[in-house]
Amino acid sequence: MSDSRPSRSPLSSSSSNAPADARSALLKRAARDAMDYLEGEDARSVAPTPQAVAALSALRGPLPPGPTSAETVLHLLHEYGSPATIAKTGGRNFGFVNGGCLPAALAASWLVSAWDQNAAFFVQSPTAITLEEIALDWVRDLLGLPAGTGGAVVTGATMANFSALAAARHALLARAGWDVELDGLFGAPPITVVVGEEAHASVFKALGMLGLGRNRVVRVPVDGQGRMRADALPSLDAQTILCLQAGNVNTGAFDPADKIIPAARAAGAWIHVDGAFGLWATTSPKYRKLTKGFELADSWATDAHKWPNIGYDCGLALVRDPETLRAAMSMEASYLLQGDHREPSYYNPELSRRARGVELWAGLRSLGRSGMAEIVERTCAHARRFAEGLRAAGFEVLNEVVINQV
Ligand SMILES: *Cc1c(COP(=O)(O)O)cnc(C)c1O
Repeated sequence: MSDSRPSRSPLSSSSSNAPADARSALLKRAARDAMDYLEGEDARSVAPTPQAVAALSALRGPLPPGPTSAETVLHLLHEYGSPATIAKTGGRNFGFVNGGCLPAALAASWLVSAWDQNAAFFVQSPTAITLEEIALDWVRDLLGLPAGTGGAVVTGATMANFSALAAARHALLARAGWDVELDGLFGAPPITVVVGEEAHASVFKALGMLGLGRNRVVRVPVDGQGRMRADALPSLDAQTILCLQAGNVNTGAFDPADKIIPAARAAGAWIHVDGAFGLWATTSPKYRKLTKGFELADSWATDAHKWPNIGYDCGLALVRDPETLRAAMSMEASYLLQGDHREPSYYNPELSRRARGVELWAGLRSLGRSGMAEIVERTCAHARRFAEGLRAAGFEVLNEVVINQV
């Protein structure tokens, strides 16, 4: 009987195709479970109960020798997995500087999963590569970065710091006549890395991964809000990477870019900015003054999974001279042909990768410029209200509430 059936598209919803029907039923159920989860978020505690966490043990055990039906797998996930999550996307999670997930970004991520694209090369996904390119341009524009700035869409600000600092390492050593990608760091001319005393831990991790050393840095003293003190900077030169911070994770404070960057540029240093969340303040006319001067840097790391509320994982490495990033990240293999397009894999640490640029495109498109500014202003207003409430209740607020940190 099945032999006489006309061939059909696997995407068709006709009831005569059992595997496709089963898949559709499964995905509809997953969508229902997801909606059920989201609708329940406001009625539960943000943290899971200890019982829910303990019940995760139901998911342990050796891998079964044979298959489990997809329905059962999904059931197990929703039954035991959902209750033990942190309720992150509702209105009551104020932990860290994590964002939620915009409806458009979430919906896009469902579609991206269905597409299952490999966003390594244009030939593997014209859609993913095109949307990523557009989204990168939008971000450059939103953050007020120079025309020609290029970059990579990576998993987060840690990898963005890593990627941008790899570009810096390439540029400085190339200047000194050393090809670090080919010859490595052994025997290379030294590079000095200067960081603020309160640089984010991920900067040190990135420096370690790059062979520049977590401890082999010059630490600049900071003021009471964690801002680098411009008067305490060491002398900088063309073999120096200076790492600034736009948005201290504890206080929200910004290093004084306009006091530091012009002189650092004149000295020939490479200036990198870790602006994981803070750089997005640029999108609000009200808060833009805080990020003034950071656009003069050479590279920037930021996160779209924080303030812009694009789902995990989505970070951005942005580099004024994208050729330096390309020099650090490109690769050659006989089966990889260079087309006319921007190939993400020539700018990214990864080869195969998720099409996270699609979610970024979708989220930003849904927000528009005003939507992004509105998120910044609304969350900053919430932070001020928090601070006022805490002070009124007798608590001491330790930071100057400049943006969304209390
Ligand atoms: C969150 C954060 C990072 C690390 O970002 P991930 O996306 O978690 O890798 C780096 N720097 C600052 C200032 C941050 O807030």
